[in-house]
Amino acid sequence: MSNTSPTLAQLEQKDTFIRRHIGPGKGEIEEMLSAIGASSLDDLIEQTVPAGIALPEPLKCGEGATEVEALSELKAVAAKNKINRSFIGMGYYDTHVPNVILRNVLENPGWYTAYTPYQPEIAQGRLEAILNFQQVTIDLTGLELASASLLDESTAAAEAMGLAKRVSKNKKANIFFVSDDVHPQTLDVVKTRAEMFGFEIVTGPAEEAAEHDVFGALLQYPTSTGEIKDISDIIAAVQAKKGIAAVAADLMSLVMLKSPGELGADVALGSAQRFGVPMGYGGPHAAFFATRESFKRSLPGRIIGVSKDTRDRPALRMALQTREQHIRREKANSNICTAQVLLANMASFYAVYHGPQGLKTIAERIHRFADILATGLTLKGTSKGVALKHSTYFDTLTVLVENKEDVLAKAYAKGMNLRADLEGAVGVALDETTTREDILALFDVILGDNHGLSVEDLDAEVTTQAVKSIPEELVRTSDILTHEVFNKYHSETEMLRYIKSLENKDLALNHSMISLGSCTMKLNATAEMIPVTWAEFGQLHPFAPLDQAVGYQEMIAELAEWLIDVTGYDALSMQPNSGAQGEYAGLLAIQRYHESRGDSHRNVCLIPSSAHGTNPASAQMVSLKVVVVACDSNGNVDLNDLRKKAEEVGDNLSCAMITYPSTHGVYEETVKEICDIVHEHGGQVYMDGANMNAQVGITSPGFIGSDVSHLNLHKTFCIPHGGGGPGMGPIGVKSHLAPFLPNHTVINAETAGKDCGAVSGAPWGSASILPISYMYIKMMGSEGLRRATEVAILNANYVAKKLEGHFEILYKGNNDRVAHECIIDLRPLKEASGVTELDIAKRLNDYGFHSPTMSFPVAGTLMVEPTESEAKYELDRFINAMISIRQEIAKVESGEWDATDNPLHNAPHTLADICDSNWNRSYDRMLAAYPAPEVHRNKFWPTVNRIDDVYGDRNLICSCPSIESYIEG
Ligand SMILES: *Cc1c(COP(=O)(O)O)cnc(C)c1O
Repeated sequence: MSNTSPTLAQLEQKDTFIRRHIGPGKGEIEEMLSAIGASSLDDLIEQTVPAGIALPEPLKCGEGATEVEALSELKAVAAKNKINRSFIGMGYYDTHVPNVILRNVLENPGWYTAYTPYQPEIAQGRLEAILNFQQVTIDLTGLELASASLLDESTAAAEAMGLAKRVSKNKKANIFFVSDDVHPQTLDVVKTRAEMFGFEIVTGPAEEAAEHDVFGALLQYPTSTGEIKDISDIIAAVQAKKGIAAVAADLMSLVMLKSPGELGADVALGSAQRFGVPMGYGGPHAAFFATRESFKRSLPGRIIGVSKDTRDRPALRMALQTREQHIRREKANSNICTAQVLLANMASFYAVYHGPQGLKTIAERIHRFADILATGLTLKGTSKGVALKHSTYFDTLTVLVENKEDVLAKAYAKGMNLRADLEGAVGVALDETTTREDILALFDVILGDNHGLSVEDLDAEVTTQAVKSIPEELVRTSDILTHEVFNKYHSETEMLRYIKSLENKDLALNHSMISLGSCTMKLNATAEMIPVTWAEFGQLHPFAPLDQAVGYQEMIAELAEWLIDVTGYDALSMQPNSGAQGEYAGLLAIQRYHESRGDSHRNVCLIPSSAHGTNPASAQMVSLKVVVVACDSNGNVDLNDLRKKAEEVGDNLSCAMITYPSTHGVYEETVKEICDIVHEHGGQVYMDGANMNAQVGITSPGFIGSDVSHLNLHKTFCIPHGGGGPGMGPIGVKSHLAPFLPNHTVINAETAGKDCGAVSGAPWGSASILPISYMYIKMMGSEGLRRATEVAILNANYVAKKLEGHFEILYKGNNDRVAHECIIDLRPLKEASGVTELDIAKRLNDYGFHSPTMSFPVAGTLMVEPTESEAKYELDRFINAMISIRQEIAKVESGEWDATDNPLHNAPHTLADICDSNWNRSYDRMLAAYPAPEVHRNKFWPTVNRIDDVYGDRNLICSCPSIESYIEG
């Protein structure tokens, strides 16, 4: 060993991000390789991945940048966005994100790295926040039952159409009426959805809704151009024809307006964006959706409900899970899986922080500014006065102007965006951030610089004239947000503690690994997250002129290019805002392609039995008939069955949806053959890209031979799960499908098919989270991306190897290797001991772990996907916990422990158990709560005991329970 100190050049060596993203260090990788009997990572990959699908060349994503470099480069790109004051409206408004929420929720890994709350005992915090969101929805819409958020207002409207079709008693009707004053992007998305369902869309003035034989109608309240009219008669007329009346509403205006429920609506929906969630060039934001109690089984998306735990305390969990798409599959209500939980939580916290009085002040201020603006613009006596299209409004004026282009140009020159798509008029939408200066600037732009108006004088005028811009009969008289939670946390200290108290109840990635098969819970690096809350990305309206979004366009284009390289496709659409939406968009492209070739009879989709539930659910959304293909005993798609089914279907074959590596966690040797068989029958291959974490840099869907895939950027490409969303599901396609990618009616994208409708409300989906994936690829580079895949495979094989001998690993591929995940078969143990997979999942909580995926894709199993981000130390901790649990099971098996009086059956253990003076179990408290030595270092306490699902479903309560019910009796 030499004693010389390192040279400056050595000290200047860059701190690469790759070694931060990838959990195991060099030495650990060596140890793990030797434990599984592979000589190198290359050797492991050669043993695991079929030779025929190995990419011949490395990726072209460049060299990995350091965090410092990538952040400064992206900052320069972001600076090319021009942030104008936005008065565009159309469902997107500027808002002040309360800083206490910005930092402690949106920027806090305790919130954003959590998983969907399938394990409710360790998720009571976000479940409470979502329940609050449902309560906000219920109060403001005046309906009985609300869901836990949908993807955006436009898709929520499409879901309302689907619900209407399911529940309408007018069974023979095939028309869905859409009022001509809904937001144009909503009409676009609804039309796309209707086309594939075979529904007829009729548009016209709202008053004509009931003139048609409709199963439902969609109205907007206030209308897209701002008018507030009493729609109760229209609603009643639609209902008289046994149609379902859905109302797209604006959440802020509902603070002052009579609710859709009070007007008789069956469904109310809309965006919760302006409740403290940045516009972000289109998303992510949560949509709200409410309906009647009687339609609960038809509601799209998740519902959070109140149930009780084994100590009879109230406890929250996702209700009516048997209606979820993984169980209902092609009979599902919708394909919604990932939704927008993080953003729903932000909106609910906004309501908690401001409370009913604060919200009222905000809404009234917005409305007062609208009155002042309207009064000034229409002031009689000034020669320059202009006319308004509507005399009623909440915050949006449609100003009739002769010289629209001049007005818009003047606005742009002053750094202001007005709504530009109206004929002979500009739209001006005000919001929470509107100031007196804004109003004066709007006068300047519309009336000319020397208008001589003063906000103070106009304010007095509004008062003396008693301006009635909200019709008397539509003024809200009912209370909102009377529940205690909305009336308690109005100081920042109280709010901070409330947020923290909920965060403490939840196990997220900042506590321990969450090894969810198929869901790829990898590192969401801080450097990736930082740009999300830059104003340059946050404050852009999705319909801002393209020349103001140069930075966004550049970032999106570069990311698209990388993803095209990674997937081996030719074109990509960033519009779908979840994986399931990507599936829908991809299948849509396939169906349009067939139609373009005169093959509109092709209407069958082959799906292997191992597929994720969203696959068949998406297939039914484009009216495809699902034919299930069997899997063989090794978990592979049964080629003979595939051939047989393809032949039976013949000319009617539209496509096959496959997942690769399969959800069984193996690289099928025959995947190319599968593609060939489908193609031979004239079908297209849809490859579900959720498992891209086992492909990146090693193989690719395009190279294997499939035609279209979605990517779950919230899995493989590091967007955090947010406790159940957001996500992004862009689709890559081969060139023949490129003309059938989604377009958008407000902003036309050059890459998209010109005749294709939209699938999301915003042209680039949830654009503001794309910087996360951009940063990831930029910092990993081609080499780092491949290395991540290799280590993901190493980690999975290490876990599988170490658990072997204790548990059965269900499927293995080549050389007994698994892919990036493995399935632990618990059925033999259950048989022998009575201990269930649920007992094991909950017992893992006592050890400080989130359970792996339970009973998917095979009932009675756990699917473990450790990802490359987990170091050997953490893997060992998990492995030791599993082995220790196995030994506990043995004690039940042997009769040493009673069948029910044992720590597995009673898991998870709470402080209430341990502190119970009547502890009467046959095992001791230390074993219950501290089953492994490591637990002493960092104990996580589940806050409720095991939850009774059946009770909760029988007594469905989806609104906030009273505080008293939380106090232990
Ligand atoms: C996660 C997942 C999906 C659905 O993606 P969402 O973003 O939740 O809609 C589809 N297929 C597979 C295999 C998945 O793991």
